[in-house]
Amino acid sequence: MSILVYIESNENQIKKSSFELLSYAKELSKKLSLELIALVINCTNISTLQDFGPDKILSINQTKLNLFNAQNYAELISNVSKSTGAKNIIISDSVNCKYLGSLLSVKINAAFISNVVSIPSSTTPFIVKRSTFSNKAFCDIKVNSDIKILSISKNSFGVNKNKSEPIIESIENDFIESRIVCESVELSSGSVSIEDADIVVSAGRGMKGPENWNIIEDLANTLKAATACSKPVSDLGWRPHSEHVGQTGKPVSTNLYIAIGISGAIQHLAGVSSSKVKVVINTDPEAPFFKVADYGIVGDAFEVVPKLNEKLKAFQAENN
Ligand SMILES: Cc1cc2nc3c(=O)[nH]c(=O)nc-3n(C[C@H](O)[C@H](O)[C@H](O)COP(=O)(O)OP(=O)(O)OC[C@H]3O[C@@H](n4cnc5c(N)ncnc54)[C@H](O)[C@@H]3O)c2cc1C
Repeated sequence: MSILVYIESNENQIKKSSFELLSYAKELSKKLSLELIALVINCTNISTLQDFGPDKILSINQTKLNLFNAQNYAELISNVSKSTGAKNIIISDSVNCKYLGSLLSVKINAAFISNVVSIPSSTTPFIVKRSTFSNKAFCDIKVNSDIKILSISKNSFGVNKNKSEPIIESIENDFIESRIVCESVELSSGSVSIEDADIVVSAGRGMKGPENWNIIEDLANTLKAATACSKPVSDLGWRPHSEHVGQTGKPVSTNLYIAIGISGAIQHLAGVSSSKVKVVINTDPEAPFFKVADYGIVGDAFEVVPKLNEKLKAFQAENN
């Protein structure tokens, strides 16, 4: 019996979120005395995984798995989970994994618990905490099924090194391909995606128009951050919908979220509440965003943002 972790990668690089998944799974494997298996799909750069304690790494390389396809991946992971006797399958909270988790749960008759934020408080019965109501509350879930799929909220557990010497096995798996084939994927905006970013620079209607986004992009470039926006900004067509953050947009769970000219309406905050540090730049000292900010600057974005960017560049030049 085992714990199986699905390791996500991008352009042959393991995603940082996967190290957190392994750290979580290692702790769980100690608690349940189960073998810890990492499943890597179409990524050969896997040496870093051994820093996080897997007993075994299963590596599969197949061209038909080059682009993520939830149905194909669910079929594959279901086969691997059956052959390894996986009792717990650990996945991330990425958009891809949200699709994957539900399909997989049907295939292997497992309970799917999303937004898990900590190690189970009890294993018999299995009780685990998850966040709910857009991260406004937590609930303890009692899971009755034998097999469980847990999707772990980004930044909720942290990354803990735990060196191991895993057995590495290349596996072949002939699965039934889905009827839908993804032919190509193009990034809809900047080079860093909101999902994978450690830092997000986000701006709202206070920027007055799309022609002013150069200062937001400059700051994002300096910080190697992704750019994001509020809903009205994408509704107005100033920025692509893929950048829209909030209750009806993408959730953002970064280490640093910089909100510029965004009022902080409840629907926007719902998408950013699990980000660790929030910095707000707004002309209005009464803007609701300041109530949840860790750092706030009351000022005009058109003055503050270029100055902040200059200072950051100078700091980087001195410290590199
Ligand atoms: C069902 C529903 C779902 C919704 N879902 C979402 C969602 O997912 N995401 C989302 O974002 N919104 C969502 N909204 C909309 C939300 O209620 C707000 O209307 C929206 O977030 C406001 O966007 P904003 O802060 O960019 O604009 P505004 O509310 O217009 O705020 C602009 C801010 O910029 C400041 N400002 C102005 N000039 C400057 C300057 N020069 N420098 C610095 N600051 C300046 C102002 O003081 C103000 O605080 C939803 C609404 C509904 C009803």
